[in-house]
Amino acid sequence: MLAPPLQRLVTELAKLPGIGQRTAQRLAFHVLRADPEDAFALAAAIREVKERIGLCEICFNLAEGPRCTICADERRDPSVLCVVEEPGDVLPIERTHEFRGRYHVLGGALSPIDGVEPEDLKITQLYARVESGDVTEVVLATNPTTTGEATALHIADGLRSRAPDVTVTRLASGLPVGGDLEYADEVTLGRALAGRRAV
Ligand SMILES: [Zn+2]
Repeated sequence: MLAPPLQRLVTELAKLPGIGQRTAQRLAFHVLRADPEDAFALAAAIREVKERIGLCEICFNLAEGPRCTICADERRDPSVLCVVEEPGDVLPIERTHEFRGRYHVLGGALSPIDGVEPEDLKITQLYARVESGDVTEVVLATNPTTTGEATALHIADGLRSRAPDVTVTRLASGLPVGGDLEYADEVTLGRALAGRRAV
């Protein structure tokens, strides 16, 4: 019923998370009515984010260029590494202002049911960083979910055998079980970070 170009826009918008057909149609009509500059700016921003943002060669956080802003910041403490599942987990931890170390982004969590094995995550790269650098503590900040916990246990085991002198800690309880770090409020997450315990 819609003109083909409009239908294509609706189809693409409906692929976004949380956007159903009706919302996609509403957004498509909004784009259609919008000033050309605004609509082209949206298209350009989407293109630019795909062309210019990649993964940091050190920590696998999002980066414009080879290194992310945190790895490039010499004031960040290289002796403490915070291990998270996704790049989206870095921001909420940064917002707590409790953490001055560096990150390591795994790119997911272990989930044998979904076919996610250790070699699918940046775990080998984490071990290499810990073994080669001056890391004294690794904070396992994977999500408090079944897969996040399994991932933390797996890495804690791996680190114990490879780097017995490194302290391995886990975020303190207080985070909603089964929840996602990304949605934790700053105060709760800050407390969980401050009260981290050895595993
Ligand atoms: Zn980095």
